[in-house]
Amino acid sequence: MDNCIFCKIINGQVQAEFLHQDDEVTAFFDARPITPIHVLVVPNKHIASVNQLDTSNEGLLGHMIMVARALAFHFHLKESGYRLVINTGPDAGQSVYHLHLHLIGGEPMPFSVKK
Ligand code: AMP
Repeated sequence: MDNCIFCKIINGQVQAEFLHQDDEVTAFFDARPITPIHVLVVPNKHIASVNQLDTSNEGLLGHMIMVARALAFHFHLKESGYRLVINTGPDAGQSVYHLHLHLIGGEPMPFSVKK
């Protein structure tokens, strides 16, 4: 996608420090971290959001989670804990319409999805 910031990062037009890249996904630090560790795991192929997924993407989603898990372990978050978050659409605050999984951790987080 011509105007997609994450496509530009993946293809090297915009600089980011890659933490991982393979045939399917790229991972890099979030430019505006909300926790000490804040990584984005992004499919190399442009998919706007969870809304555009279908069953053919199940393997990709599993791979995104396993890459995020490996990075969580790399950053010593296994015991302290972490969140994996995919914001979808306006009410969730999605600001970049290229699917991405946030890995956040490194300090206690102030809210929970538990009620
Ligand atoms: P979301 O709000 O879930 O769509 O998350 C988009 C994330 O992308 C935000 O946390 C931004 O800080 C991050 N972001 C936007 N532009 C860049 C960039 N050029 N490099 C790294 N992270 C970025």
